[in-house]
Amino acid sequence: MPGSIPFSRDFDFEYGRMEQVAPMVRRIVARNPSRFTWHGTGTYVIGEGNVAVIDPGPDLAEHVDALLAALDGENVTHLLVTHTHRDHSPACAAVQAATGARTYGFGRHGSGRIDRGVQVEEGADHDFVPDVHLSHGDVVSGDGWSMECVHTPGHTSNHLCYQLREQKALFCGDHVMGWSTTIISPPDGDIVSYLASLELLLDRQDDLYWPTHGPCISDPKPLVKALIAHRLERAEEIRACLANNVHRIADMVPRMYPELPKAMHPAAARSVFSTLIYLIERGEAICEGELDVAARFALDSTAGA
Ligand SMILES: [Zn+2]
Repeated sequence: MPGSIPFSRDFDFEYGRMEQVAPMVRRIVARNPSRFTWHGTGTYVIGEGNVAVIDPGPDLAEHVDALLAALDGENVTHLLVTHTHRDHSPACAAVQAATGARTYGFGRHGSGRIDRGVQVEEGADHDFVPDVHLSHGDVVSGDGWSMECVHTPGHTSNHLCYQLREQKALFCGDHVMGWSTTIISPPDGDIVSYLASLELLLDRQDDLYWPTHGPCISDPKPLVKALIAHRLERAEEIRACLANNVHRIADMVPRMYPELPKAMHPAAARSVFSTLIYLIERGEAICEGELDVAARFALDSTAGA
C-alpha cells in the first residue's frame, strides 16, 4: 500500500526564486502545479558561470523569464533533458533562443499519451529533438562538472537520469519521485522496463537523488526498494481481482484505490493496464480480444500447471 513507501512531502520553495540547494546545484520551481506535477517543475542549474540547465521546464513565459533573469551574467552551455513530457522539455526552445546552448537528451518522444480525451499524465512534447543524442553510460562534461547518463526507460521510453559525478548526486527526473509513485502509461510507459530501471538504481552508488518534482531524496535505496515492492503488490492485487472474477480495469480501480479521487481514476487505470501487460508478458494473465484498457482480462488457466 502507498502508506508503506517512505515518501517525503516536506518541500520548501518559492515560485520563480532561484535557490542554492547544494554546492554547484541551484533550483527554480515553475508555477505549473497539477495532480501530475505536484507543486510544479523543479529546473536545476549545475555549476557557476558556465552552467548546465536540467529540464528547462514547461512552455511558461514566467518561468523562462525567471530562469534567464536568475542566470543574468552567466553563460548557459548545456540544456539537459530527462524526458519529453510537457512539464520538462518545451522551455528548451525559448532558453536555447536566448542563450544558444545546445540541447541534450536520449531522443524524441515515443508516442502519445492521451487516452480517449482524458488526460492521464502530463502530455508529450513531440517537438523536442535533442541536438546531441545521449546513450546509457555517456558522460557530458562542462565547466567544473560532469554528468553520467543513465538510461531509465519506464515512465517514458526515452527517460534519462543524470549523475553529477562530483557529488554522486542523481538527477532522476520522474523516474523516482519523493512525493508520489510515478505514472506508467502504456504504450510508451512500460512497467517491465520501469522495474528493470529501478533495479538498475539499486546496483548504483548514488548518494542522493534530485527529482524534478519535490525535495531531495537523501536516502534513496529504501525508497527504490519500496517502489519495487509496491508495484509487485499491485500485481498481486490484480491477480486477486482476476481470481475473484473482477475482469475489467474499470472494476479493479475502485477496489485497488479506494481513497483515490475519481478524477485520478483514468491515470490509475493506465497503471493497472501497464501491470496487466506485465502479467501477460509473464504468462500469468490473458487479454480477451484486442489489448486495450477497456478489454476483459483473465488469469491464464494454462499457467502454473
Ligand atoms: Zn514525466
